[in-house]
Amino acid sequence: MMFISRAIVAVVALSVCAYALPAGNNSEVFEIDERATLATVYTTCVTANQVALTFDDGPYIYHRQIVDTLSNAGVKGTFFLNGNNYQCIYDSARVSDIKYAVSKGHELAQHTWSHPELPSLSISQIRTEFSKINTALKKITGLTPAFMRPPYGDYNNNVRQVAAEYGQSVVLWNYDSGDSVGVSIAGQKKVYSDFSSKKGRKAIFLNHEVYKNTATTLLPYAISELKKGGYKMVTLSQCLGKPAYISQVKAGTRDSSWHC
Ligand SMILES: [Zn+2]
Repeated sequence: MMFISRAIVAVVALSVCAYALPAGNNSEVFEIDERATLATVYTTCVTANQVALTFDDGPYIYHRQIVDTLSNAGVKGTFFLNGNNYQCIYDSARVSDIKYAVSKGHELAQHTWSHPELPSLSISQIRTEFSKINTALKKITGLTPAFMRPPYGDYNNNVRQVAAEYGQSVVLWNYDSGDSVGVSIAGQKKVYSDFSSKKGRKAIFLNHEVYKNTATTLLPYAISELKKGGYKMVTLSQCLGKPAYISQVKAGTRDSSWHC
């Protein structure tokens, strides 16, 4: 802790600094605010009867199916994307899927580059996890998300500090479908039917886009139950009443840097 405290004191005088990847060019440089303190942590929407459906761990092969299911139902979802988890984010099919999701009005947020348990990493390693996924999303879409979710929901003050440096908020959830932790499909459905049985609630739902059952069975059921309960399925930015993105520039074009 002593080392960290000293490091924080040392960077206060530096004010706003650019943090670049080793092989950086302009598109890989992010302004990070090293005076930043600790990012806010959100767990639910601000308005009653609103819910945000969130999908972690992609991009993966069910991404487009989930986007279409949401779009066809007239609702919105938010994808917390990794850089290199189930599949490399720079894979051509996944790049196309991500652009497709944005074009349909769904939102992107970051879930780190390689899905590590962030509290086990050094501050510098945490910064690399943020930088690499932010860079990839910027290259692919031109967008830099305002929201991040730490893998497993595990964070400490180092994670909150780095999130604040990048101007990103930490977003967890208050309802977990259980799709990633061995809950049966019946049990996953029950999370949504139980929630929808009462009015006036609000929720950020955790789902994972990497399971076939989530894409083909759970999501259509969840949408139907939430609609029956009078719930509005909104983007995370609507749910939190905050902008989804810190910045938007022109998307990049594929070059040799687009690899995992
Ligand atoms: Zn995850």
